[in-house]
Amino acid sequence: MPSFLEKNQTSFTTEQANLSRKVTTCRWSVESANGRIKNKYTFWDNVVPISYLPIINSLFRITCAIINRFSPVLLTETLYHQRLVDKVELRVRANNELKQKIEDFDLDNRRDWLKIPASGLEGFPTLMMADLYDLTCGVYQVKNISKYNARMQRTNPMYEIFKHKVCTGIVKVLMPSRFHRSITHKLWIEFDTETLGLEAITGYYCRCQIGSRVLGCCSHVCAVLFHLGIGRHEPMPVKKSYITLLLDAAERYSGENGTEIEDPTDNIYLESFD
Ligand SMILES: [Zn+2]
Repeated sequence: MPSFLEKNQTSFTTEQANLSRKVTTCRWSVESANGRIKNKYTFWDNVVPISYLPIINSLFRITCAIINRFSPVLLTETLYHQRLVDKVELRVRANNELKQKIEDFDLDNRRDWLKIPASGLEGFPTLMMADLYDLTCGVYQVKNISKYNARMQRTNPMYEIFKHKVCTGIVKVLMPSRFHRSITHKLWIEFDTETLGLEAITGYYCRCQIGSRVLGCCSHVCAVLFHLGIGRHEPMPVKKSYITLLLDAAERYSGENGTEIEDPTDNIYLESFD
């Protein structure tokens, strides 16, 4: 069972958060099987009228039999799953050393931090999406990235980024909650400026309920890792007006039969033969 917060407890301990992640990792395949029944047959996604009670058991058995016979296998164990099991076993008892460091050395002192733009953060490693899947041990936190890093936020991020005046390898980020306007999440990410890729991320800690886990990470840490390691290096999306979009479409479909014609400048061979 995942852990529950005690009365007056605001966040899980690292061990509790890790153990909860271990449970959800194991439960993923079970919940996926349950979800497939609801997705394929919406009858099961709604409240079933009481009049179905005499036959509901038979209906459910028939539904599962059809899915078992005609749907592909939900999960086939691969080397990735074995690596995942090894990682879970390795990290489930690990301590959050960055959290310990912040508490021991009082690194949350506001006077020691300097607010900077994302572009002013030097030495933070460039990441790939595969790194985030690897770090989170799943897909849930990665799927949540888009909810935090909406397109508008890429040009005007809602995060507040701070660098420490002495410790160059730690960044502090404040980000507003998606659910409560009055709540701001505070998190830290530690990185090694001499190392590349995911290996350079040496620690992370968020003050949210599950933020101290080191088996995976919370959605806030994942979203910030995306923003600092991937998003800020990508070209800004060009926002076109509706008129421009319409004119573009008119140019592309200007063939006599309404067929799309290629832009000659995209084609090296056309240019060279003209
Ligand atoms: Zn968090």
